Amino acid sequence: MNEFDSERISAILEWLGYLKTDSQEDAGLIILNTCSVRLKAETRLFGHIGNLKVLKEQNPGLIICIGGCTAQSLKEKLIETFPFIDIVFGTGNIENLPGLIKARAATAKSICDTSGNPQEIKELIDFKRKFSFKAFIPVMTGCDNYCSYCIVPYVRGHEKSINPAVIIDSVKKLAAEGVFEVTLLGQNVNSYGHVLNCGGDAATAAGESINSFAKLLNKVAVINGIKRIRFMTSHPKDFTEDIIDAVRDNNNIMGHIHLPFQSGSDKILELMNRKYSARQYEDLFYKIKERIPDCAITTDIIVGFPGEKEKDFNKTLELVKKLKFNRAFTFLYSSRRGTKAETFEDSVPIAEKKKWFKLLLDTQNTISFDRNMMMKGKVFKALVESESTKKSSLLEGRLENNTIVNFDGPKELTGKFINLEITQAHPFYLSGKIV
Ligand code: SAH
Ligand code: SF4
Repeated sequence: MNEFDSERISAILEWLGYLKTDSQEDAGLIILNTCSVRLKAETRLFGHIGNLKVLKEQNPGLIICIGGCTAQSLKEKLIETFPFIDIVFGTGNIENLPGLIKARAATAKSICDTSGNPQEIKELIDFKRKFSFKAFIPVMTGCDNYCSYCIVPYVRGHEKSINPAVIIDSVKKLAAEGVFEVTLLGQNVNSYGHVLNCGGDAATAAGESINSFAKLLNKVAVINGIKRIRFMTSHPKDFTEDIIDAVRDNNNIMGHIHLPFQSGSDKILELMNRKYSARQYEDLFYKIKERIPDCAITTDIIVGFPGEKEKDFNKTLELVKKLKFNRAFTFLYSSRRGTKAETFEDSVPIAEKKKWFKLLLDTQNTISFDRNMMMKGKVFKALVESESTKKSSLLEGRLENNTIVNFDGPKELTGKFINLEITQAHPFYLSGKIV
């Protein structure tokens, strides 16, 4: 979602006549688009803002703006701590940016505006994007799940689904412009249609009721020119079987599902307010694998939640060993202001949590590596996306199951489909060669 917002922000600045620069020293305006999901992101943000002070002293005309979730959460406090910030804008104020920049020029005071409605995205597609062939499409905004550790509902507002007619229209327009991959975005895409947005009786597109994520997927899948469809994030409690069928039955919906489980202990899942048990998660996992054997499943896990004991952690570890995810994003629990878990007693020493964390990471890395090794010597279809982030002389291709492959080839292949033979496995990516 933040990446999508960043694309909108840069498009707005380009409309205003700004040009991108790689050097902070050359910039007349710097925007930091922030995340507040974990404290670490915020701590790093404060370091970045601190570094900008010197630039501002050298160039008093420089405009410094802070947007995103931390801006929405900390509001004026950011300006109180860092008075050289010019503009703080909220997650629902992105479209007001031109007005805010203008207003800042007309006053001697810094401006904070976090009053916008984060559920309203006025501009879904009509802006210049980072890639010409793939695009993010938010299908819903906000979240009402209130997982007890999570700050998102407080900084992104209530859950609202975007009118299906608007989504389908947007994807059609994108396809006509040459976009052939779309990623449908939402904090919990599986509850698409539960609360509809955009006014009126919005649950219909072309007279048809599209009030569930499976129905939306099936509709997007038949749009001419759309060759790859991805979606994230899925919440196990709302993952209905018709979503599995939609992925299985449409060749252009990619076989990769990001399905966070967070903890293998029912006690912790309940404290987290996740509304499923480890057993229910496991059943869903196997149901997906049964119907789509090649489907890659990735997950998120939190280690060291308040009240988590070694036996709870061991249940998480056991589940990871049993299910063998393609990849898991593991996070040390981070207490966030305003959340319910902030008030929970947390007696496990951080050194112990870090020990668990390392054990989980090592275990999953071995599993991911073994899974990738199984692909060695085989040939897969890949979409060439860009230069490699690992080594710029190489290119980066993405397989249907979302795994990245680095390979040698001409830049002109960017945006094209090719076949790659996997020559080497690594825990988080593969190396390959063009066949
Ligand atoms: N809406 C998505 C993503 C939420 S944020 C979902 O429900 O899965 C992405 C991940 O960050 C979460 O899945 C969770 O594993 C992690 N996360 C969120 N809040 C956290 C916190 N306070 N401490 C540690 N990890 C957290
Ligand atoms: Fe946060 Fe839970 Fe909502 Fe995901 S589903 S954004 S973890 S509250």
